[in-house]
Amino acid sequence: MNNLIDGKEISQKIKDELKQKIAKIDKKPCLAVILIGDNPASHIYVKNKEIACEYTGIKSKKYQLLKDTSENEVLDLIETLNNDKEVNGILVQLPLPKHIDEKKVLLKIDVSKDVDGFHPYNIGLLSTGNAILNPCTPFGCIQLLKRSGVNLEGKSCVIIGRSNIVGKPLGMMLLNESATVTTTHSRTKNLPEITKQADIIIVAIGKAGFLTGDMIKKGAVIIDVGINRDNTGNICGDVDFKSCLEKAELITPVPGGVGPMTIAMLMNNCLTAYEIQNKI
Ligand code: NAD
Repeated sequence: MNNLIDGKEISQKIKDELKQKIAKIDKKPCLAVILIGDNPASHIYVKNKEIACEYTGIKSKKYQLLKDTSENEVLDLIETLNNDKEVNGILVQLPLPKHIDEKKVLLKIDVSKDVDGFHPYNIGLLSTGNAILNPCTPFGCIQLLKRSGVNLEGKSCVIIGRSNIVGKPLGMMLLNESATVTTTHSRTKNLPEITKQADIIIVAIGKAGFLTGDMIKKGAVIIDVGINRDNTGNICGDVDFKSCLEKAELITPVPGGVGPMTIAMLMNNCLTAYEIQNKI
């Protein structure tokens, strides 16, 4: 299948590039990850981040907190890490237990250590075209497109999903790349009419097999952010892969598409944060 965008291969290349750069640094960049509670998926994500840190040469510190840890204790830990010169990046694994306010937690992280790129200050920089630390998943989508030779300038891009972590920041990134962007969501009317016009479609909604071949034009580029389980328990995306594959010029698989890119871009952000803090 030569119309496949191989996220595993592209992310590996990015990690190798980072590894080479980090090998030349004496004092290694350091990522602090805060994990609260016992969400099994969060534990897997954090483990994968630790493995990527080890591969690229980034030091990682894990802070495992009990699920009933108070909001103040979490904020105090972030304050300590903000002031710790050894720590270059701080990541609080989401979702948080219900008694902890996500907005307060994200606001507390020092903007130069915000490797998830979710702090309103960093989102503000992104919206004005001056981003330093970009949210990892949409940043990964842009890298997949660019490194597959897709020219974004003037292209009609349709995003399905408007979350703060994927759809919205991705829209700003694509605008910054001079694409023409339409962001759609659950209340959008006549979605197939919109998607059929698109050169590039990025789907991030969390609904298995949502985008079908009859919703896309021939030659479209399809990026699938979704992570779902199909009725046999296997991981699948938001795109009906089989029907879209027949018409797409390029398409990402799930797994092996956007997923590995998210972690590669997190590693990239750790190095960027280190460089900002050390004025490199
Ligand atoms: P979310 O769950 O916060 O929001 C879903 C969005 O989809 C909303 O904006 C909603 O309006 C839209 N939506 C829902 N139903 C729709 C419909 N029928 N038509 C059009 N739009 C609809 O989204 P999220 O957190 O961005 O996650 C979306 C998916 O991406 C999930 O499957 C998640 O697991 C996955 N995800 C993957 C990665 C990765 O690294 N690959 C990272 C983040 C999220």
